Amino acid sequence: MPLEPPRFTEGLAGPPIRRYSGPIIDAHCHMDDVEDARLLVRVAGDFGVKVLCGIARPHAIPALQQAFGDRLRPIVRLDQSLIAEPAPHGGSSTRLAGENVRAIREARARGAVGAKLWFAPRFIAETGFRLDNPAMQPIFDVLGELGMPLIVHIADPDCWFANQYADRARFGTKAEQYEQLEHVLAAHPTLKVQGAHFGGDPEHLVHIGRLLDTYPNYMIDSSATKWVCRELSVRLAEARSFIAARADRIIFGSDLVAFHDARPEDYSSRYWAHRWLWEGEGVRPSPVPDPCAPWSEGPEIHGLALQVDVLARLYTDNARRWFGIGTE
Ligand SMILES: [Zn+2]
Repeated sequence: MPLEPPRFTEGLAGPPIRRYSGPIIDAHCHMDDVEDARLLVRVAGDFGVKVLCGIARPHAIPALQQAFGDRLRPIVRLDQSLIAEPAPHGGSSTRLAGENVRAIREARARGAVGAKLWFAPRFIAETGFRLDNPAMQPIFDVLGELGMPLIVHIADPDCWFANQYADRARFGTKAEQYEQLEHVLAAHPTLKVQGAHFGGDPEHLVHIGRLLDTYPNYMIDSSATKWVCRELSVRLAEARSFIAARADRIIFGSDLVAFHDARPEDYSSRYWAHRWLWEGEGVRPSPVPDPCAPWSEGPEIHGLALQVDVLARLYTDNARRWFGIGTE
């Protein structure tokens, strides 16, 4: 008789297990509107998340800071729309760098701890603009100068490359997405780069391990619940030893997005899934639907049962060091 997925219809539910009882930093979530964010911050607290690194547009940061104080450490979401602006003399748009450098400095003055860019395959296919474009240089320079990590989304799941990215002429291979990242990591050793979604390649831990071993300025975060839960579950033993060997290079993040009309279970189900993945022992049905799940009965989460000292680094210590923040 298969186990039923946990239900969250009775409102907020706490963590499934308490192997780790200290504070947690969510190093990758999204919020713009204060009222939308209130429920996320409240549910996060029920799961031990005391500080949220909320990715927000520059104009949203002051109100979020005022509403949430030390519970929030903003990450400024940079404006990539300026990439499309026609540049004088065929060069790169100078407003792209100018506007974003100004936004970074202003956000830093308001307490922002990082910046975010999105260079997914579909963005590059649409714009032809890669992360290693020379126009990005001033942005990388100011982030390096201020010691602010850059969170970057590079690749998407393998199952997407088998489906919506099957047109290789348009999207390239998954491996090709990483050329731009490696160019930037090598050319900007003082720029701290945080690879979103287990570096975008939880399917290939050897690859992510090589990037971490080659570039000391690279970290990965655990954001994207169903993707990371799925791929670490299917290679449980490999994932456990990968995490134990690189416990200083992985940061907990949920990728939760605060949205209007959210129900508590929209957030609690994701935090529950994460805590079962990292701390649980044994298999549980996942409360998060996943069209890429390889199991016949629906998505599963296989608990990694990480040691408490590894959990402390993943949940708190690494983010504290990486962003230069506390949890008090
Ligand atoms: Zn995200």
